Amino acid sequence: MIENNGSFDILFHRALIIDGTGTAGRIGDVAFAGDRIAAVGDLAGARARQDIDADGLVLAPGFIDVHTHDDALAIGGSAMEPKVTQGVTTVVTGNCGISLAPLVLHRSPPAPLDLLGGQESYRYARFADYLAELDARPPAVNVAPMVGHTTLRVATMDTLDRPARPAEIKAMSRLLEESLEAGAIGFSTGLYYPLARAAPTEEVIELLAVVSRLRAVYTTHMRDEEEGVEESLRESFDAAMRANVPLIISHHKCMGIENHGRSVSTLKLIDQARATQTVGLDAYPYVAGSTVLMGAMVKKSSRVLITWSKPHPEIRGEDLSDIARKWDCSIEDAIERLVPAGAIYFHMSEEDVRRILGHPATMIGSDGLPHDQHPHPRLWGTFPRVLGHYARDLQLFSLEEAVRKMTGLPATTFKLRDRGLIAPGGYADVVLFDATTIADTATFDVPIQQAAGIKAVFVNGRAAVLDGKVEPGRSGRVLRRVA
Ligand SMILES: [Zn+2]
Repeated sequence: MIENNGSFDILFHRALIIDGTGTAGRIGDVAFAGDRIAAVGDLAGARARQDIDADGLVLAPGFIDVHTHDDALAIGGSAMEPKVTQGVTTVVTGNCGISLAPLVLHRSPPAPLDLLGGQESYRYARFADYLAELDARPPAVNVAPMVGHTTLRVATMDTLDRPARPAEIKAMSRLLEESLEAGAIGFSTGLYYPLARAAPTEEVIELLAVVSRLRAVYTTHMRDEEEGVEESLRESFDAAMRANVPLIISHHKCMGIENHGRSVSTLKLIDQARATQTVGLDAYPYVAGSTVLMGAMVKKSSRVLITWSKPHPEIRGEDLSDIARKWDCSIEDAIERLVPAGAIYFHMSEEDVRRILGHPATMIGSDGLPHDQHPHPRLWGTFPRVLGHYARDLQLFSLEEAVRKMTGLPATTFKLRDRGLIAPGGYADVVLFDATTIADTATFDVPIQQAAGIKAVFVNGRAAVLDGKVEPGRSGRVLRRVA
Protein backbone atom coordinates (compact mmCIF):
# COMPACT_ATOMS: atom_id res chain seq x y z
CA MET A 1 0.00 0.00 0.00
CA ILE A 2 3.03 2.33 0.09
CA GLU A 3 2.54 4.38 -3.03
CA ASN A 4 5.17 7.07 -2.71
CA ASN A 5 7.66 5.91 -0.12
CA GLY A 6 9.68 8.80 1.18
CA SER A 7 7.60 11.66 -0.13
CA PHE A 8 4.63 11.80 2.22
CA ASP A 9 3.97 15.06 3.96
CA ILE A 10 2.46 13.74 7.17
CA LEU A 11 2.43 10.21 8.55
CA PHE A 12 0.31 9.05 11.49
CA HIS A 13 1.73 5.92 13.11
CA ARG A 14 -0.26 3.13 14.77
CA ALA A 15 -3.59 4.93 15.10
CA LEU A 16 -6.87 3.21 15.81
CA ILE A 17 -8.41 4.13 12.45
CA ILE A 18 -12.19 4.62 12.58
CA ASP A 19 -12.87 5.35 8.95
CA GLY A 20 -16.38 6.86 8.99
CA THR A 21 -18.21 3.94 7.36
CA GLY A 22 -19.29 2.43 10.68
CA THR A 23 -17.06 -0.63 10.36
CA ALA A 24 -14.89 -1.68 13.31
CA GLY A 25 -11.77 0.35 13.96
CA ARG A 26 -8.38 -1.17 13.15
CA ILE A 27 -4.80 -0.26 14.01
CA GLY A 28 -2.84 1.22 11.11
CA ASP A 29 -0.93 4.13 9.60
CA VAL A 30 -2.29 7.00 7.53
CA ALA A 31 -0.26 9.21 5.20
CA PHE A 32 -1.05 12.59 3.65
CA ALA A 33 0.37 13.98 0.42
CA GLY A 34 -0.66 17.61 -0.01
CA ASP A 35 -4.34 18.04 0.71
CA ARG A 36 -5.21 14.36 0.19
CA ILE A 37 -4.99 11.09 2.07
CA ALA A 38 -2.34 9.21 0.10
CA ALA A 39 -2.19 5.84 1.84
CA VAL A 40 -3.85 3.85 4.62
CA GLY A 41 -2.57 0.59 6.12
CA ASP A 42 0.77 -0.76 7.27
CA LEU A 43 3.21 1.95 6.25
CA ALA A 44 6.17 0.77 8.34
CA GLY A 45 9.35 2.01 6.70
CA ALA A 46 7.65 4.89 4.91
CA ARG A 47 9.05 8.37 5.38
CA ALA A 48 7.39 11.72 5.72
CA ARG A 49 8.25 15.34 6.47
CA GLN A 50 6.27 15.10 9.70
CA ASP A 51 5.65 11.99 11.80
CA ILE A 52 2.85 11.85 14.35
CA ASP A 53 2.79 9.08 16.94
CA ALA A 54 -0.88 8.14 17.19
CA ASP A 55 -0.42 5.13 19.44
CA GLY A 56 -3.44 4.76 21.72
CA LEU A 57 -5.42 7.44 19.86
CA VAL A 58 -8.32 7.33 17.42
CA LEU A 59 -7.85 8.77 13.93
CA ALA A 60 -11.22 9.61 12.36
CA PRO A 61 -12.43 11.74 9.45
CA GLY A 62 -12.89 15.36 10.55
CA PHE A 63 -16.41 15.90 11.87
CA ILE A 64 -19.03 17.55 9.68
CA ASP A 65 -21.29 19.86 11.66
CA VAL A 66 -24.42 19.61 9.52
CA HIS A 67 -26.44 22.18 11.40
CA THR A 68 -24.74 25.50 12.05
CA HIS A 69 -25.40 29.21 12.04
CA ASP A 70 -21.74 30.00 11.37
CA ASP A 71 -22.50 32.05 8.22
CA ALA A 72 -20.96 35.25 9.62
CA LEU A 73 -18.51 33.56 11.99
CA ALA A 74 -16.74 32.04 8.96
CA ILE A 75 -16.05 35.45 7.37
CA GLY A 76 -12.67 37.21 7.53
CA GLY A 77 -10.23 34.33 8.07
CA SER A 78 -11.96 33.02 11.18
CA ALA A 79 -10.18 30.63 13.56
CA MET A 80 -13.57 28.91 14.09
CA GLU A 81 -12.40 28.03 17.59
CA PRO A 82 -15.64 26.51 18.93
CA LYS A 83 -15.58 24.12 15.95
CA VAL A 84 -11.97 23.08 15.37
CA THR A 85 -11.49 22.41 19.08
CA GLN A 86 -14.25 19.77 18.82
CA GLY A 87 -12.66 18.10 15.79
CA VAL A 88 -15.02 19.70 13.29
CA THR A 89 -13.48 20.27 9.84
CA THR A 90 -16.61 21.21 7.84
CA VAL A 91 -19.65 23.29 8.76
CA VAL A 92 -22.93 23.40 6.83
CA THR A 93 -24.33 26.94 7.01
CA GLY A 94 -27.60 28.58 5.95
CA ASN A 95 -29.87 26.44 8.13
CA CYS A 96 -33.41 27.14 9.41
CA GLY A 97 -34.28 29.38 6.46
CA ILE A 98 -31.66 31.99 7.29
CA SER A 99 -28.50 32.74 5.29
CA LEU A 100 -26.53 35.99 5.02
CA ALA A 101 -26.84 35.99 1.24
CA PRO A 102 -28.37 37.02 -1.06
CA LEU A 103 -29.56 40.02 0.95
CA VAL A 104 -28.53 43.61 1.62
CA LEU A 105 -30.24 45.07 4.69
CA HIS A 106 -30.70 48.77 5.36
CA ARG A 107 -32.18 48.18 8.81
CA SER A 108 -31.64 45.92 11.82
CA PRO A 109 -32.26 42.31 10.85
CA PRO A 110 -35.66 41.11 12.09
CA ALA A 111 -35.67 37.92 14.22
CA PRO A 112 -34.55 35.24 13.49
CA LEU A 113 -32.17 36.82 10.93
CA ASP A 114 -30.50 38.52 13.91
CA LEU A 115 -29.16 35.11 15.00
CA LEU A 116 -26.54 35.42 12.25
CA GLY A 117 -25.35 38.94 13.02
CA GLY A 118 -26.32 42.60 12.73
CA GLN A 119 -27.22 44.79 9.77
CA GLU A 120 -23.55 45.10 8.74
CA SER A 121 -23.39 41.32 8.16
CA TYR A 122 -26.13 41.44 5.52
CA ARG A 123 -24.16 43.00 2.67
CA TYR A 124 -24.19 40.46 -0.17
CA ALA A 125 -26.53 41.18 -3.05
CA ARG A 126 -25.50 37.90 -4.67
CA PHE A 127 -24.63 34.55 -3.10
CA ALA A 128 -21.47 34.57 -5.24
CA ASP A 129 -20.31 37.73 -3.40
CA TYR A 130 -20.54 35.90 -0.07
CA LEU A 131 -18.61 32.92 -1.42
CA ALA A 132 -15.97 35.21 -2.95
CA GLU A 133 -15.35 36.71 0.48
CA LEU A 134 -14.91 33.23 2.01
CA ASP A 135 -12.55 32.29 -0.84
CA ALA A 136 -10.48 35.45 -0.34
CA ARG A 137 -10.03 34.99 3.41
CA PRO A 138 -10.86 31.38 4.20
CA PRO A 139 -11.75 30.19 7.70
CA ALA A 140 -10.06 27.32 9.53
CA VAL A 141 -12.76 24.84 8.46
CA ASN A 142 -14.54 24.05 5.21
CA VAL A 143 -17.88 25.75 4.61
CA ALA A 144 -20.71 23.96 2.79
CA PRO A 145 -23.22 26.80 2.37
CA MET A 146 -26.98 26.67 1.92
CA VAL A 147 -29.39 29.47 1.01
CA GLY A 148 -32.36 30.27 3.22
CA HIS A 149 -36.02 30.69 2.26
CA THR A 150 -36.58 33.41 4.89
CA THR A 151 -33.63 35.36 3.49
CA LEU A 152 -35.18 35.12 0.00
CA ARG A 153 -38.55 36.29 1.37
CA VAL A 154 -37.00 39.32 3.08
CA ALA A 155 -35.08 40.11 -0.13
CA THR A 156 -38.16 40.03 -2.37
CA MET A 157 -41.32 40.83 -0.33
CA ASP A 158 -42.56 44.04 1.28
CA THR A 159 -44.67 42.32 3.95
CA LEU A 160 -44.02 38.83 5.23
CA ASP A 161 -47.23 37.89 7.02
CA ARG A 162 -48.77 36.50 3.83
CA PRO A 163 -48.00 33.96 1.09
CA ALA A 164 -45.66 35.12 -1.66
CA ARG A 165 -47.36 36.32 -4.86
CA PRO A 166 -46.50 34.74 -8.23
CA ALA A 167 -44.10 37.55 -9.19
CA GLU A 168 -42.36 37.23 -5.80
CA ILE A 169 -42.01 33.47 -6.16
CA LYS A 170 -40.47 34.11 -9.55
CA ALA A 171 -38.02 36.60 -8.03
CA MET A 172 -37.16 34.17 -5.22
CA SER A 173 -36.67 31.34 -7.72
CA ARG A 174 -34.25 33.50 -9.69
CA LEU A 175 -32.21 34.33 -6.57
CA LEU A 176 -32.28 30.69 -5.50
CA GLU A 177 -31.09 29.50 -8.89
CA GLU A 178 -28.31 32.09 -8.91
CA SER A 179 -27.25 30.98 -5.41
CA LEU A 180 -27.18 27.27 -6.27
CA GLU A 181 -25.35 28.02 -9.52
CA ALA A 182 -22.78 29.98 -7.50
CA GLY A 183 -22.20 26.92 -5.32
CA ALA A 184 -24.79 26.70 -2.54
CA ILE A 185 -25.32 23.00 -1.78
CA GLY A 186 -28.90 23.31 -0.62
CA PHE A 187 -31.96 25.26 0.36
CA SER A 188 -33.44 25.55 3.86
CA THR A 189 -36.74 26.65 5.34
CA GLY A 190 -37.67 27.82 8.83
CA LEU A 191 -41.46 27.62 8.63
CA TYR A 192 -41.75 27.83 12.42
CA TYR A 193 -40.54 31.43 12.48
CA PRO A 194 -42.79 34.48 12.04
CA LEU A 195 -41.10 35.66 8.81
CA ALA A 196 -41.86 32.38 7.03
CA ARG A 197 -44.90 31.03 8.88
CA ALA A 198 -47.35 32.50 6.37
CA ALA A 199 -45.69 30.63 3.53
CA PRO A 200 -47.96 27.77 2.44
CA THR A 201 -46.53 24.38 1.41
CA GLU A 202 -47.20 25.33 -2.22
CA GLU A 203 -44.78 28.27 -2.01
CA VAL A 204 -42.07 25.91 -0.76
CA ILE A 205 -42.83 23.34 -3.46
CA GLU A 206 -42.53 25.94 -6.21
CA LEU A 207 -39.08 26.92 -4.92
CA LEU A 208 -38.08 23.29 -4.53
CA ALA A 209 -38.47 22.87 -8.30
CA VAL A 210 -35.22 24.85 -8.63
CA VAL A 211 -33.55 22.71 -5.94
CA SER A 212 -34.59 19.57 -7.82
CA ARG A 213 -33.37 20.82 -11.19
CA LEU A 214 -29.93 21.64 -9.78
CA ARG A 215 -29.74 18.46 -7.65
CA ALA A 216 -29.31 20.25 -4.36
CA VAL A 217 -30.69 19.21 -0.94
CA TYR A 218 -33.59 20.54 1.14
CA THR A 219 -33.41 20.99 4.92
CA THR A 220 -36.24 22.22 7.10
CA HIS A 221 -36.82 23.60 10.56
CA MET A 222 -40.39 22.43 10.46
CA ARG A 223 -43.53 24.47 11.07
CA ASP A 224 -44.29 22.58 14.27
CA GLU A 225 -42.16 20.52 16.66
CA GLU A 226 -44.91 20.34 19.27
CA GLU A 227 -48.48 18.98 19.06
CA GLY A 228 -48.37 19.14 15.28
CA VAL A 229 -44.99 17.49 14.82
CA GLU A 230 -46.40 14.50 12.90
CA GLU A 231 -48.41 16.79 10.64
CA SER A 232 -45.30 18.86 9.96
CA LEU A 233 -43.34 15.73 9.11
CA ARG A 234 -46.04 14.80 6.61
CA GLU A 235 -45.93 18.31 5.13
CA SER A 236 -42.14 18.02 4.73
CA PHE A 237 -42.28 14.53 3.17
CA ASP A 238 -45.03 15.63 0.80
CA ALA A 239 -43.17 18.75 -0.39
CA ALA A 240 -39.90 16.87 -0.92
CA MET A 241 -41.63 13.96 -2.62
CA ARG A 242 -43.59 16.17 -5.02
CA ALA A 243 -40.49 18.20 -5.89
CA ASN A 244 -38.29 15.09 -5.98
CA VAL A 245 -35.56 16.42 -3.67
CA PRO A 246 -33.64 14.80 -0.80
CA LEU A 247 -35.05 15.97 2.54
CA ILE A 248 -33.31 16.58 5.86
CA ILE A 249 -35.36 17.22 9.00
CA SER A 250 -33.39 19.72 11.09
CA HIS A 251 -32.73 19.32 14.85
CA HIS A 252 -35.52 16.79 15.23
CA LYS A 253 -37.24 17.03 18.61
CA CYS A 254 -40.57 16.75 20.44
CA MET A 255 -41.07 19.97 22.34
CA GLY A 256 -43.16 20.52 25.48
CA ILE A 257 -43.86 18.10 28.31
CA GLU A 258 -47.20 16.99 26.83
CA ASN A 259 -45.33 15.87 23.69
CA HIS A 260 -42.55 13.95 25.39
CA GLY A 261 -42.38 10.37 24.17
CA ARG A 262 -43.73 11.27 20.76
CA SER A 263 -40.42 10.40 19.08
CA VAL A 264 -41.66 6.78 18.96
CA SER A 265 -44.28 7.87 16.47
CA THR A 266 -42.17 10.51 14.63
CA LEU A 267 -39.32 8.07 14.00
CA LYS A 268 -41.81 5.50 12.75
CA LEU A 269 -43.14 8.06 10.27
CA ILE A 270 -39.58 8.87 9.18
CA ASP A 271 -38.88 5.16 8.65
CA GLN A 272 -42.04 4.80 6.58
CA ALA A 273 -41.10 7.78 4.42
CA ARG A 274 -37.56 6.45 4.00
CA ALA A 275 -38.98 3.41 2.27
CA THR A 276 -40.02 5.56 -0.70
CA GLN A 277 -37.94 8.76 -0.61
CA THR A 278 -34.61 10.13 0.59
CA VAL A 279 -35.00 11.46 4.14
CA GLY A 280 -32.33 12.28 6.71
CA LEU A 281 -32.37 14.07 10.05
CA ASP A 282 -30.02 15.70 12.52
CA ALA A 283 -30.01 16.27 16.26
CA TYR A 284 -27.89 17.78 19.03
CA PRO A 285 -27.17 15.91 22.29
CA TYR A 286 -29.03 18.07 24.83
CA VAL A 287 -32.54 18.34 26.29
CA ALA A 288 -32.51 22.13 25.81
CA GLY A 289 -32.75 24.11 22.58
CA SER A 290 -31.83 27.71 21.84
CA THR A 291 -33.03 30.45 19.54
CA VAL A 292 -34.48 33.96 19.73
CA LEU A 293 -36.65 34.78 22.77
CA MET A 294 -40.31 34.08 21.92
CA GLY A 295 -43.30 33.81 24.23
CA ALA A 296 -44.67 30.76 22.40
CA MET A 297 -41.53 28.76 23.11
CA VAL A 298 -41.30 29.94 26.72
CA LYS A 299 -44.73 28.38 27.26
CA LYS A 300 -43.36 24.99 26.12
CA SER A 301 -40.36 25.07 28.46
CA SER A 302 -39.76 24.10 32.08
CA ARG A 303 -36.87 26.56 32.39
CA VAL A 304 -35.59 29.45 30.25
CA LEU A 305 -32.12 31.09 30.32
CA ILE A 306 -31.42 34.41 28.59
CA THR A 307 -28.42 34.23 26.22
CA TRP A 308 -28.41 37.86 25.08
CA SER A 309 -30.65 40.92 25.12
CA LYS A 310 -30.23 44.05 23.05
CA PRO A 311 -31.90 46.47 25.52
CA HIS A 312 -30.34 44.66 28.52
CA PRO A 313 -26.82 43.56 27.54
CA GLU A 314 -25.94 43.15 31.23
CA ILE A 315 -28.29 40.17 31.44
CA ARG A 316 -26.69 36.92 30.32
CA GLY A 317 -27.16 33.38 31.55
CA GLU A 318 -29.92 34.43 33.94
CA ASP A 319 -33.13 32.53 34.48
CA LEU A 320 -36.15 34.30 32.94
CA SER A 321 -38.27 33.63 36.04
CA ASP A 322 -35.57 35.21 38.26
CA ILE A 323 -35.50 38.27 36.01
CA ALA A 324 -39.30 38.62 36.23
CA ARG A 325 -39.11 38.29 40.03
CA LYS A 326 -36.30 40.85 40.23
CA TRP A 327 -38.26 43.28 38.06
CA ASP A 328 -41.48 42.44 39.92
CA CYS A 329 -43.35 41.83 36.67
CA SER A 330 -45.00 38.99 34.78
CA ILE A 331 -43.01 36.63 32.53
CA GLU A 332 -44.80 38.19 29.53
CA ASP A 333 -43.74 41.70 30.57
CA ALA A 334 -40.16 40.55 31.16
CA ILE A 335 -40.06 39.10 27.63
CA GLU A 336 -41.41 42.37 26.26
CA ARG A 337 -38.64 44.31 27.99
CA LEU A 338 -35.86 41.90 26.96
CA VAL A 339 -36.50 41.52 23.20
CA PRO A 340 -34.75 41.46 20.82
CA ALA A 341 -33.11 38.69 22.79
CA GLY A 342 -32.04 35.06 22.74
CA ALA A 343 -32.82 32.18 25.07
CA ILE A 344 -32.08 28.59 26.02
CA TYR A 345 -35.23 26.52 26.44
CA PHE A 346 -35.44 23.29 28.45
CA HIS A 347 -38.24 21.58 26.56
CA MET A 348 -37.22 18.04 25.53
CA SER A 349 -37.08 14.70 27.34
CA GLU A 350 -33.85 12.75 27.74
CA GLU A 351 -35.62 9.64 26.51
CA ASP A 352 -36.59 11.32 23.22
CA VAL A 353 -33.09 12.77 22.79
CA ARG A 354 -31.55 9.30 23.16
CA ARG A 355 -34.11 7.65 20.88
CA ILE A 356 -33.56 10.25 18.15
CA LEU A 357 -29.74 10.27 18.47
CA GLY A 358 -29.79 6.48 18.26
CA HIS A 359 -31.73 6.32 14.99
CA PRO A 360 -29.43 5.07 12.20
CA ALA A 361 -30.32 8.01 9.90
CA THR A 362 -29.61 10.70 12.52
CA MET A 363 -26.59 12.91 11.89
CA ILE A 364 -25.03 15.20 14.48
CA GLY A 365 -25.50 18.95 14.12
CA SER A 366 -24.63 21.41 16.87
CA ASP A 367 -27.08 24.22 16.02
CA GLY A 368 -24.56 26.35 17.96
CA LEU A 369 -25.12 30.10 18.05
CA PRO A 370 -21.66 31.70 17.87
CA HIS A 371 -22.72 35.31 18.50
CA ASP A 372 -24.60 34.72 21.77
CA GLN A 373 -23.07 36.29 24.86
CA HIS A 374 -23.96 33.28 27.01
CA PRO A 375 -24.38 30.55 24.37
CA HIS A 376 -25.94 27.14 24.71
CA PRO A 377 -23.09 24.70 25.57
CA ARG A 378 -23.76 22.83 22.31
CA LEU A 379 -21.66 25.48 20.54
CA TRP A 380 -18.45 24.15 22.17
CA GLY A 381 -19.47 20.67 23.30
CA THR A 382 -21.70 18.80 20.84
CA PHE A 383 -19.29 16.35 19.18
CA PRO A 384 -17.21 15.38 22.24
CA ARG A 385 -20.48 14.98 24.17
CA VAL A 386 -21.80 12.45 21.66
CA LEU A 387 -18.47 10.56 21.63
CA GLY A 388 -17.78 10.73 25.37
CA HIS A 389 -21.11 10.91 27.17
CA TYR A 390 -23.45 9.08 24.79
CA ALA A 391 -21.15 6.54 23.06
CA ARG A 392 -18.48 5.73 25.69
CA ASP A 393 -20.27 6.36 29.00
CA LEU A 394 -23.90 5.49 28.21
CA GLN A 395 -23.10 3.08 25.33
CA LEU A 396 -26.05 4.37 23.35
CA PHE A 397 -24.10 3.23 20.27
CA SER A 398 -20.56 2.17 19.38
CA LEU A 399 -17.75 4.65 18.83
CA GLU A 400 -17.71 3.62 15.18
CA GLU A 401 -21.42 4.41 14.83
CA ALA A 402 -20.96 7.77 16.59
CA VAL A 403 -18.18 8.67 14.15
CA ARG A 404 -20.30 7.57 11.15
CA LYS A 405 -23.08 9.94 12.28
CA MET A 406 -20.55 12.82 12.16
CA THR A 407 -18.62 11.94 9.00
CA GLY A 408 -19.56 9.37 6.35
CA LEU A 409 -23.31 9.74 6.77
CA PRO A 410 -23.40 13.57 6.49
CA ALA A 411 -20.92 13.58 3.58
CA THR A 412 -23.25 11.26 1.63
CA THR A 413 -26.44 13.04 2.70
CA PHE A 414 -25.17 16.51 1.80
CA LYS A 415 -23.25 15.27 -1.28
CA LEU A 416 -19.85 16.44 -0.08
CA ARG A 417 -17.54 14.71 -2.51
CA ASP A 418 -14.37 13.01 -1.20
CA ARG A 419 -15.06 14.04 2.40
CA GLY A 420 -16.14 12.15 5.50
CA LEU A 421 -14.02 9.00 5.16
CA ILE A 422 -10.47 7.87 5.89
CA ALA A 423 -9.68 6.43 2.47
CA PRO A 424 -6.90 6.90 -0.08
CA GLY A 425 -7.73 9.74 -2.47
CA GLY A 426 -10.05 11.54 -0.06
CA TYR A 427 -9.33 15.00 1.29
CA ALA A 428 -7.06 15.06 4.32
CA ASP A 429 -9.63 16.25 6.86
CA VAL A 430 -8.99 14.27 10.05
CA VAL A 431 -9.22 14.43 13.83
CA LEU A 432 -6.98 12.63 16.29
CA PHE A 433 -8.56 12.09 19.70
CA ASP A 434 -8.29 10.11 22.92
CA ALA A 435 -11.40 7.93 23.19
CA THR A 436 -10.85 7.38 26.91
CA THR A 437 -10.81 11.09 27.85
CA ILE A 438 -12.87 12.82 25.17
CA ALA A 439 -15.56 14.89 26.87
CA ASP A 440 -17.55 18.09 26.62
CA THR A 441 -16.66 20.57 29.35
CA ALA A 442 -19.01 23.40 28.34
CA THR A 443 -22.04 23.62 30.66
CA PHE A 444 -25.17 25.74 30.87
CA ASP A 445 -23.44 27.77 33.62
CA VAL A 446 -20.01 28.01 31.98
CA PRO A 447 -20.68 27.48 28.27
CA ILE A 448 -17.46 28.71 26.68
CA GLN A 449 -14.96 25.93 27.39
CA GLN A 450 -12.72 23.89 25.14
CA ALA A 451 -13.60 20.19 25.05
CA ALA A 452 -11.17 17.59 26.41
CA GLY A 453 -9.44 14.83 24.49
CA ILE A 454 -8.99 16.40 21.03
CA LYS A 455 -5.27 16.07 20.20
CA ALA A 456 -4.97 17.23 16.59
CA VAL A 457 -7.18 18.37 13.74
CA PHE A 458 -6.17 18.67 10.08
CA VAL A 459 -8.14 20.47 7.38
CA ASN A 460 -7.13 19.85 3.75
CA GLY A 461 -3.84 18.41 4.98
CA ARG A 462 -2.88 21.30 7.24
CA ALA A 463 -3.00 21.51 11.02
CA ALA A 464 -5.87 23.46 12.58
CA VAL A 465 -5.19 22.04 16.06
CA LEU A 466 -1.92 20.49 17.30
CA ASP A 467 -1.29 19.19 20.83
CA GLY A 468 -4.76 20.44 21.71
CA LYS A 469 -3.92 24.04 20.70
CA VAL A 470 -5.43 26.06 17.87
CA GLU A 471 -2.93 26.67 15.06
CA PRO A 472 -2.73 29.93 13.08
CA GLY A 473 -3.28 28.31 9.66
CA ARG A 474 -6.57 28.82 7.81
CA SER A 475 -6.94 26.01 5.32
CA GLY A 476 -10.72 25.71 5.01
CA ARG A 477 -12.43 25.88 1.62
CA VAL A 478 -15.85 26.55 0.27
CA LEU A 479 -17.40 23.19 -0.62
CA ARG A 480 -19.50 24.04 -3.64
CA ARG A 481 -22.43 22.07 -4.96
CA VAL A 482 -21.38 19.32 -7.35
CA ALA A 483 -23.85 18.67 -10.13
ZN1 LIG B 1 -33.82 25.74 13.53
